[in-house]
Amino acid sequence: MQFVFSAIYIAAIVLQLLIRLPHEKKRHQLKVSKSGVTPKDKLGLVLLTLSYGVLPMMFIFTSYLNFANYEVSILGRLLGVLVQALSVFVFWRSHLDLGGNFSPLVEIQEKHQLVTQGVYGIVRHPMYASLFLWVIAQPFILPNWLAGMLNIPVFFVFYFVRVGAEEQIMLEQFGGQYREYMKKVGAVVPKLF
Ligand code: SAH
Repeated sequence: MQFVFSAIYIAAIVLQLLIRLPHEKKRHQLKVSKSGVTPKDKLGLVLLTLSYGVLPMMFIFTSYLNFANYEVSILGRLLGVLVQALSVFVFWRSHLDLGGNFSPLVEIQEKHQLVTQGVYGIVRHPMYASLFLWVIAQPFILPNWLAGMLNIPVFFVFYFVRVGAEEQIMLEQFGGQYREYMKKVGAVVPKLF
């Protein structure tokens, strides 16, 4: 039965790649005016790639990680699939709304515009919120401490390093406009009051 859930995990990654690819292509035609990339941020990205891609592929295609397997009920697995589907949806929507301002790195482009519309009117970091949903779903879909669960702490390390640097550069670029936006809109959880 695991192969069905493994296939779903791979399909979700393929969907993410299809969503991102056109944005990656466009990005290379734009000029970067300010970069906030730090070694810590790069390390975060490498760790994330390991626990989101490499370890899951090892779990799916080899038996090296079997010693770290655990059990998940079918209901838990289905819940995982639902949360992962929501994650892919938010990922798609945030790429659509961020448009030409997207970058996988912390940087400002020459014609960078502050986006506060669409899903960016609900949370300031919907792409990272979608990643958060993903890491919650992952341990249910890939029931293994290394291929499933490890991505939760890795995400938190990545998130806190990344968001600090990213909000710093946004404040430098957009000043009061970004400060106002921060007051009104929550980081990854919507502000209800
Ligand atoms: N943190 C956002 C964006 C991730 S992509 C999210 O989770 O959805 C990272 C790039 O987006 C960074 O280079 C940053 O310059 C840019 N960025 C982040 N928030 C933005 C916003 N509100 N408007 C425009 N660009 C933004």
